[in-house]
Amino acid sequence: QLIVKGQCTDDHKLGCTTSVIKIVYCGREWCPTCGQPWSVVHQRKFSRLLPKVRQIATMGQLVLEFPDRYRKIRGWAYSKLALRRASDRIVSVLAGKRMGRKGRVGGYFQRGFMRWHWFGDYSGLVGGKEINLDELRVPYAEAFGQLLSAFAEMGGVDLVVNPNIGTIFWNNPGGQLSEVIAQLVADFARSCGLHLGPYSSIKYNPHPTVVVDSGFLPPAKIGAIKRDLARALLCPDLIVHYSYRKTEPEMIHSLKYITRATFRDEQWDGYMAKQIHGFRNIRSWGKWAGPPVWESEGMAFYLAIEKLERSRCPDCDSQLRWDRKAMSFHYLRQYQSMGLTTPLAGGYFKVKFPGHGRDPPEDLSCPG
Ligand SMILES: [Zn+2]
Ligand SMILES: [Zn+2]
Repeated sequence: QLIVKGQCTDDHKLGCTTSVIKIVYCGREWCPTCGQPWSVVHQRKFSRLLPKVRQIATMGQLVLEFPDRYRKIRGWAYSKLALRRASDRIVSVLAGKRMGRKGRVGGYFQRGFMRWHWFGDYSGLVGGKEINLDELRVPYAEAFGQLLSAFAEMGGVDLVVNPNIGTIFWNNPGGQLSEVIAQLVADFARSCGLHLGPYSSIKYNPHPTVVVDSGFLPPAKIGAIKRDLARALLCPDLIVHYSYRKTEPEMIHSLKYITRATFRDEQWDGYMAKQIHGFRNIRSWGKWAGPPVWESEGMAFYLAIEKLERSRCPDCDSQLRWDRKAMSFHYLRQYQSMGLTTPLAGGYFKVKFPGHGRDPPEDLSCPG
């Protein structure tokens, strides 16, 4: 593992001498470290998008899915080129077409961003019908409680019950653990007499989620968006879900969910693992210079990461200049043992090198 050192450029001429160390991660979704739910890489991704989400009062969310038979066709979504083209087309429909100097014309939403997921999480339709979370919790409270604690013990594996569509979702951790978890949920369903139909398994299923600055939409408008997307993506039976989040905890949760890794095992599709290398997964459009419209707990932590991700000094907000060469992780260990570092957030540390500080100049005038 590597680290890279950055130095405050002291743009504001305050005499700031802060140095920062950043841990460099590989960022691969199938990396056992980086791909974990709420890993440092996940926290960085989440924090970079949070300032956008904080500018919207209700968070509209479109999830697009290709029916099974399209998923492995190279021209649709089974190559880097096709994915890039699909992203372009989706943004053109939702944001409007680029028309030279006039900017984007038409479209449905002033601003938004999108990100692809590569594999479906395991999920089960509970009885295949709408259920209410409270209804689920009361009669099955005990069994459900056991399931939740089993998930908690496995550390970092999230379980989400979506009462709107009557489903249970969980992060697919890949490897042997995914079978253990599938078994646990199946047992839970059986003990409660629930019919749990598998909804998706480990099959390549590229599905972009688009976050838009929007709330309730009339069904006719959703229908029109769906038609336009289907036409643009040359997929008449494209699946499009629209929903929106009204409260801050829901928006935070959704953003965590959107930024998580889904390609948890390279073996699931070695060809696509190579194809998505260097693929620009996040696309955004519109103006995002507005003020935040909501606050939430833990915001200071996320914003600290976001600021560091933009290479701003944690002390004076000047630009940080990063060294060209990465260094061995052992240097960080060394600095830590010498008591020179202070942990910041998201895999960043502040370092104070002795003698580096520009202490107030000594009085060198002749004492006479
Ligand atoms: Zn990694
Ligand atoms: Zn500084």
